Amino acid sequence: TRYVYRFGGGVDDGGKGDKNLLGGKGANLDGMAAIGLPVPPGFTITTEMCTRYYTDGGVYPESLKAQVANGIAHIEGVTGKKFGDKADPLLVSVRSGARISMPGMMDTVLNLGLNDETVIGLAAASGDERFAWDSYRRFIQMYSDVVLELDHGAFEEALEIAKEDQGYTLDTEMTADDWKALVAEYKSLVSKLWNRPFPQDVNDQLWGAISAVFGSWQADRAKVYRRLNSIPHDWGTAVNVQAMVFGNMGDTSATGVAFTRDPATGENAYYGEYLINAQGEDVVAGIRTPQYLTKQARERAGAKPLSMEEAMPETYAELARVFQILETHYRDMQDIEFTVQQGKLWMLQTRSGKRTAKAALKIAVDMANEGLITEEEAVARVDPAALDQLLHPTLDPKAPRDVLTKGLPASPGAASGAIVFDADTAERRNELGDSVILVRVETSPEDIHGMHAAKGILTARGGMTSHAAVVARGMGRPCVSGAGSLSIDNAAKTLRIEGRTLKEGDILTIDGSTGEVMAGEVPTVQPELAGDFGILMAWADKVRRLKVRANAETPLDCQTARDFGAEGVGLCRTEHMFFDAARITAVREMILADSEKGRRIALDKLLPEQRDDFAQIFMVMAGLPVTIRLLDPPLHEFLPHGEAEFEEVAKAAGVGVEALKRRAAELHEFNPMLGHRGCRLGVTYPEIYEMQARAIFEAALIIKQRSGEAPIPEIMIPLVATKKELELMKAIVDSVARQVFEEQGASVDYLVGTMIELPRAALKAGEIAEVGEFFSFGTNDLTQTTIGISRDDAGRFLTQYVDKGIFARDPFVSIDVEGVGELIELAAERGRATRNGIKLGICGEHGGDPASIAFCEKTGLDYVSASPYRVPIARLAAAQAAL
Ligand code: ADP
Ligand code: MG
Ligand code: MG
Repeated sequence: TRYVYRFGGGVDDGGKGDKNLLGGKGANLDGMAAIGLPVPPGFTITTEMCTRYYTDGGVYPESLKAQVANGIAHIEGVTGKKFGDKADPLLVSVRSGARISMPGMMDTVLNLGLNDETVIGLAAASGDERFAWDSYRRFIQMYSDVVLELDHGAFEEALEIAKEDQGYTLDTEMTADDWKALVAEYKSLVSKLWNRPFPQDVNDQLWGAISAVFGSWQADRAKVYRRLNSIPHDWGTAVNVQAMVFGNMGDTSATGVAFTRDPATGENAYYGEYLINAQGEDVVAGIRTPQYLTKQARERAGAKPLSMEEAMPETYAELARVFQILETHYRDMQDIEFTVQQGKLWMLQTRSGKRTAKAALKIAVDMANEGLITEEEAVARVDPAALDQLLHPTLDPKAPRDVLTKGLPASPGAASGAIVFDADTAERRNELGDSVILVRVETSPEDIHGMHAAKGILTARGGMTSHAAVVARGMGRPCVSGAGSLSIDNAAKTLRIEGRTLKEGDILTIDGSTGEVMAGEVPTVQPELAGDFGILMAWADKVRRLKVRANAETPLDCQTARDFGAEGVGLCRTEHMFFDAARITAVREMILADSEKGRRIALDKLLPEQRDDFAQIFMVMAGLPVTIRLLDPPLHEFLPHGEAEFEEVAKAAGVGVEALKRRAAELHEFNPMLGHRGCRLGVTYPEIYEMQARAIFEAALIIKQRSGEAPIPEIMIPLVATKKELELMKAIVDSVARQVFEEQGASVDYLVGTMIELPRAALKAGEIAEVGEFFSFGTNDLTQTTIGISRDDAGRFLTQYVDKGIFARDPFVSIDVEGVGELIELAAERGRATRNGIKLGICGEHGGDPASIAFCEKTGLDYVSASPYRVPIARLAAAQAAL
């Protein structure tokens, strides 16, 4: 088996730049050499060797020795120098390189091949004694640290003392003799710390370094990194051995790192740093301040030291040419390491560069416009989740922050405002024009109006799928949830965080993208939605098949959704309209009435309000489908709380407070989520659904008349388990439709369908589709009822479930494809078998999750529905799923 692949000097062993075999670094060194770029010759020992080394119990196969020797011979042939030669020695670097770049792996060893004899040869052959001894001390220091794993502090200290003794401040002031003395010092340090002298045999040095690279694959920190990033343990790392080139040979030598485009902004301008007379590690180590690569960057920064473009114009021009070649070859922005040895440029590494979300978007669009990549590739390259960052205001990165604590990043975006502790105050102060942050232990449906009025929401309790988190994401409000170190005193209206006390009205800033909570106001920067964003979205729309709708129930949310490109409303939750302060009393009156007559009186008060709600939504969504879910939550949730609320309802209903309280006690439920809710409300109190259906049809006719464009209501019955339930509910809706159309002498098209959110409904989908004209998978409840875990309480153990690998991801965030997914597939299949082409969609949090959207594409659903701010993410994810 071939374990060693050579590169450089016109030799190519056919590794074909295979990252799996050669590792990322090795593959691209091979790739750069193959297209004729100046790469110091070398060889790569494969990742397969690493895996075999471990399965064989830490021994190398017999054939490896000869293959490595052959690799060294290759480098010797190309460079004309011999490894271990006393007159003109070959030096190499030994570099680790897994398939993907991995912190926690062994660091690079430079200048390997130096010993007490070859250092003299290097001095003579280069004519530069200082350079030779500088290289030797670097080698001893790195080898001792990385391979021998000796305490590196001792070496740094020795260097500091040496400089102090001479009165130097910079390494560059050290003379040849100073370095020579330090080398002696280093060698005695090694003997002391390692109990053996520093290895003088160059082959021992080489094998020591190779084994250290392979050994680092099983180091604890590498294992932890792999676990956190789901990198398989059997991938292994490659080892790269490469001829040294020297950036520390005087003022015509240098070393640097560069990006072919700006990784922060995406601007098509070279970006990088370099250091004259230095070796690779110096740039990152911060021993000296690096200089700018380009004149433009230097001038922008108002810096003095000459840029590489100015100091070494010819080499810079050569480098710029290489940048172009690399971008064209790899068709992506590259992150590059290079060294200049006495005016000659050498390439030491290239890889696709990491970038911010903003840069990713700009680079993808620019590259497609330049013809470097296709529009589809541009669409594929932007991470939909990262778009989230771009759609919300963000904190000005330059502004100082006084961080008080950190909670969960529950809903992205940043906001500042005065602290308020209850929803009513939030609403009142908002009306006065104040920006407020609503701070609660946790939120409930009654806080909705306050959440709407607030610029941001902060809670002490609750996870990523808590009420606060879900509602805030839906509204596009920044939210930090579960900030455990918060202690709220609602009576005193104070907030204590880590020993500091804030009171109502004090200014607070939250960053829902990071979870940070800060004292005072931190300025924010507004997102840019036109330009590149719009262009990429248009390309995404060309390739996607899935339609994208929004979960929205206010005209404002509907407008936001439409602006973000929603193609309809997939879920309009009518209960949110019931919590409105102006009508909650009528709602309570309706619930607490003990007769149909009493309920109808209250419902008559609600009818005009509901009609108006729907009319406004239909107006905004004109021409697009709107799926309206009839009342779903347990009545329990609407019950009055304090004495004052009971009195208010009693007055409105004209009954006694005591009677009301008795009725409320009757309605109390122990497990309301599995209780009197969904279509069960319609079965027991048909008049509620009648009122809602009437409001929908009357509103639709008003808008049809006013705008000439009829809305397309899709009336959705929640929590159906049986065909019979749906039959009963559909009969109510159809009969109201007939009445209204007759009264008005006009009609609109509409559909009646159901949510599939109970396992029984999924199983009986074939039968249910005989009645239902569409299905919308309510994956929040379907997940809850299929797995049998409460989404409101599961936060306590779900993290552990994910850590222990029971679930790959939180099933409320990303669909449990194997379990819940199978029910969806089955229901889709059975539904289609009964009703050819039945319209299928998904609402619920999963509709905005890229992995879940990919599942929806595979299952052939017609649309996904996501909260307004996630609509662009869903559009992009749907496009990627279709590619
Ligand atoms: P990392 O993965 O940590 O970046 P590298 O293997 O890329 O490690 O090496 C770190 C630095 O060492 C590089 O930036 C480069 O400047 C320098 N280096 C590596 N190999 C050589 C070489 N053959 N000649 C000169 N410098 C080298
Ligand atoms: Mg490193
Ligand atoms: Mg590197």
